Amino acid sequence: MNVKRAAKYGFCSGVRIADLKVKRFAAGGGRGAILGQVVHNERVVEEMESLGVRTIDEITAVEEPTIVFSAHGVPPSFHELAKSSGLQVLDTTCKFVYDIHREAGKALHDGYHLIFIGDPKHREVIGYTHDLDPGSYHIVTKVDQADAIDWSVYPKLKVFYQTTLNAEEFEDVVKAIERRAASVERGDTICYATKENQDAARVLAHDPEVDAIVVIGGKKSANTKHLWEICREAKPSYLVQGADDLDPAWFSNARTVGVTAGSSTPDYVIVEVEERLSVM
Ligand code: SF4
Repeated sequence: MNVKRAAKYGFCSGVRIADLKVKRFAAGGGRGAILGQVVHNERVVEEMESLGVRTIDEITAVEEPTIVFSAHGVPPSFHELAKSSGLQVLDTTCKFVYDIHREAGKALHDGYHLIFIGDPKHREVIGYTHDLDPGSYHIVTKVDQADAIDWSVYPKLKVFYQTTLNAEEFEDVVKAIERRAASVERGDTICYATKENQDAARVLAHDPEVDAIVVIGGKKSANTKHLWEICREAKPSYLVQGADDLDPAWFSNARTVGVTAGSSTPDYVIVEVEERLSVM
């Protein structure tokens, strides 16, 4: 079977740097625990564990001298908590996530009410909102949630997107807010890597040569799921974590399979999937 890659796919700069920082730390004999998956990919998590850097869910579970903060970032108070607990911090927060922390802080200072479009349970969104006064922001994901709030009571609103969202999918939500609000400003917070991977996935999905698409990424990776949602609108599309998830029956009528991968998917997993596809 022929395999055609998307023009842009896989690790973004933020994830590449986070991955490198943890590997260097481990190679130097560092002992640490990562709060949440360093990136949302189970294979990367296993790799880190094999290097002696385990993943924990709560900051209180750390037993090692160093806590690693993931590429998604943490609430600012977690840095204080780590310090007061005598922990060293290895911070792998992506610079684009820090940009949003800064921009949100400035908007609050300038009198805006904040709206975060994203998953309230996602670590990135928790990082932005955990320390804020609950009356100073909303997290919205659905049109009916946006419709249920009287936005007109806020003189100025500023919208921030979780970095890895598919903006088009949430356009209706933002429009629902704009319909009932006095003034809404949108922050340009969807990261370039997410946009590039999504645009390339769209082109691949509409390529007439491509019969089906395999999207590779972790189960918890929001950006991988969005890539799959984009692809499945045009072609049969399958979300896999690695080569072992591939089912030959999916491709019984396919001559060319398109491949794309989320920004937390390491290159070696992509190569492994492509090699398996090519012999199907
Ligand atoms: S997807 Fe963008 S914001 Fe997220 S880690 Fe990668 S570069 Fe940073």
